Amino acid sequence: MSEALVFAFILLALLIGYLLGRYRSTATKNVKGTSGGWPQKRYYQGLNYLLNDQPDAAIDTFISALEVNSDTLETHLALGNLLRRRGETSKAIRVHQNLLARPSLSKEQLHLAQIELGVDFLKSGLLDRAESLFRELVEAKNVSKPLRAKALSYLLEVYQDEREWLQAIDVADQLTAKKFSGTPDQWREMQAHYCCELAGNMLLTKELLEARRWVRNALRYDKNCVRASLILAQIELTDLAPAQALIVLRKIPRQNPKFAPEALQLIYECFQQLQKPAERVVMFRDIYREHHSLPVLNYLVEAIAQAQGEDEVVDLLLQELPAFPQMEAAGELLKVVSENKSQWVGFNYNTVKGVLEKLTAARCQYECSNCGFRGEQLHWLCPSCKSWSSIAQR
Ligand SMILES: [Zn+2]
Repeated sequence: MSEALVFAFILLALLIGYLLGRYRSTATKNVKGTSGGWPQKRYYQGLNYLLNDQPDAAIDTFISALEVNSDTLETHLALGNLLRRRGETSKAIRVHQNLLARPSLSKEQLHLAQIELGVDFLKSGLLDRAESLFRELVEAKNVSKPLRAKALSYLLEVYQDEREWLQAIDVADQLTAKKFSGTPDQWREMQAHYCCELAGNMLLTKELLEARRWVRNALRYDKNCVRASLILAQIELTDLAPAQALIVLRKIPRQNPKFAPEALQLIYECFQQLQKPAERVVMFRDIYREHHSLPVLNYLVEAIAQAQGEDEVVDLLLQELPAFPQMEAAGELLKVVSENKSQWVGFNYNTVKGVLEKLTAARCQYECSNCGFRGEQLHWLCPSCKSWSSIAQR
């Protein structure tokens, strides 16, 4: 158990002690002759458990010792949240279910406990139960506006986890309605991704008309949705319309420059389909002039190798590699080998291939700007912090 956590528990215990003290004095005032002593005894018992590093027993004692009323509700909720953050969701569920069973709480307080219980279910993967709790709150009358918005945003998370994209779009529509429109752009960007999920599925099953329809919807929600443009370019390539695909792809750096590298592979394929290798070299030289990066250099090298042969590639690499410190060793090796060409059998193939492999590896490093998650492929939804469009090439 970390020191910070013990500290948090002790603070919580002190707070509970304070509340128990208040409870006791109220009880003494109200019922003359009864001291209300047992809760305080349980409190000290709980504190003992805590100090003896038996947090589970301490939690059980605190839950049973502390009365649920308007004064202690915040403490119960804090305890439930603490347990959930520790990953002890079944205990958090017990705390929150205990609250919901108390008729002494007001409607608003019960709604608050219901949200927290829903979050417990959501975090433990019990999505059906989370969905029905949040849905109940969204549909109930007399739920306050902030709580309804909270329930809707959690319901959205449930549908996202369930990959129920149509329902997610519907819930986000409710969130962007005027009464909740604090951050409509954030919801619309997410809706564009939901449409892209549907478009991607349609593309896989070659239902191109439907795929186009969802791409259009995505761009209606967010005109700068790069993912929608990438899918549209893939649809055009599947429809054997590479020139159309190129028009779409060239807009991507203006939509969001951080995703420009994602278009490179498709641009490469467009020229392949167009059967214009020389024009492909010109295009990638232009891109490389604007973005001096290893991934772009990698595509330029491949384009030149296809159009003009490997000797041209060696010259380009010798010229460009010194600009990239991480490629220094490969550049030096290539230099030594090319200066002594005659001694090296199979020079063109093996040495250039080694450098190309290093260049390709340099292409595959992605990082989430929100949580720092790293991986070798692009995830539109960060698997770690669940934010959209936060992962890009480093
Ligand atoms: Zn993340």
